[in-house]
Amino acid sequence: MDDKRLRLGIDLGGTKIEIVALDPRGAELLRRRIPTPHDDYRATLAALANLVRDAERELGVQGLVGIGTPGSISRATGLLRGCNSVCLNGRPLKGDLEAELGREVRITNDANCFALSEASDGAGRGAGVVFGAILGTGVGAGIVVHGRILDGPNAIAGEWGHNPLPWPRDDERPGHACFCGRSGCIETWLSGPGIERDHHLAAHARLTAHDIAARAANGDAACAATLSRYEERLARALAHVINILDPDAIVLGGGMSNVDRLYANVPKLWGAWVFSDRVDTRLLRNVHGDSSGVRGAAWLWGNP
Ligand SMILES: [Zn+2]
Repeated sequence: MDDKRLRLGIDLGGTKIEIVALDPRGAELLRRRIPTPHDDYRATLAALANLVRDAERELGVQGLVGIGTPGSISRATGLLRGCNSVCLNGRPLKGDLEAELGREVRITNDANCFALSEASDGAGRGAGVVFGAILGTGVGAGIVVHGRILDGPNAIAGEWGHNPLPWPRDDERPGHACFCGRSGCIETWLSGPGIERDHHLAAHARLTAHDIAARAANGDAACAATLSRYEERLARALAHVINILDPDAIVLGGGMSNVDRLYANVPKLWGAWVFSDRVDTRLLRNVHGDSSGVRGAAWLWGNP
C-alpha cells in the first residue's frame, strides 16, 4: 500500500483519544486508545502527534491524518470553539498539529465524523443526503451530501440540538433551561439526561435512559409511556429536519440510538408534521457505533 492511501482517523474526546488506521476499503489495520491529558492543551497536542508517529512506525508508511473534535473550528479565525474540553477552546489545533507533523491535517467536529462514517460505509451507504443525528449526553448532527460533509460558512450545519422543540404543546412551554442560555431546546428533551428528567417528572422515579428502555421492553407501563412521549417528540424534531433538508436517510447515534422501538415507531408518527402526502425518508440505526468518530475522521481524506 502506498503512503497516499493509508488513512489515520483520530477521535479526540473528553476522556480518551482513539486512533484507527484504515486501508482504502475501510479495513482496520490498527487501533489504539489513550486517556486524554487532563485540561492541558500542550500535552494533548503532543499526545496526538505521538499517536500518529507511533502508528506510522508500526505500519511502516505515512498516512493521511483526519481528526474529529468536540466543538467546531471557526472558519473566520481557525480557532476551536464550543468544546466541552475547554482547554481546546481558542486554540489553533489544526495549525499547531500541522507544524508538529509537518503536513496538512483535516479536522471537523465529531457529529460530522459520525455522519460521514455512516454515509461512507455504514447505515447510510448509497444514500444521497444523510442526516446523522447523535442522541447522547447532548444532541447534535452532521449532514453529508453525496459523500461530502456539508460545511457552511459558519461550520454549524446540522446543529439542531439547540433549536426549540417544534410544535410544542402548552405543557412543553417554555421548557427546561438549557446550558446554552435558552429554554426548551431539542437537546433538553431528546438527550439521555432529557428522557431521564422527563421520566422522573412524570413517574417520580429516577432511572437511567438504558433502564427506562429495558423496563419498557419488559412491559413497565410508566416506562413505556415515557418512551412514547420521547418518540413523539423525536418525530416532531425530525419532521422539522425533513421539511428543510429532505434527507434520503436519517441515521441515529448516541446512547438513545440503541432503543430498538424508535425505528419502527417514529416513522409512523412523523408524517403528521412533514409537509408531504408521504414520507420516504428512512430512519436507520448506525452500523459503526462508537467507532464512527475515528472512522469518519479517517474518511476526511476521501471515502471508499
Ligand atoms: Zn440549548
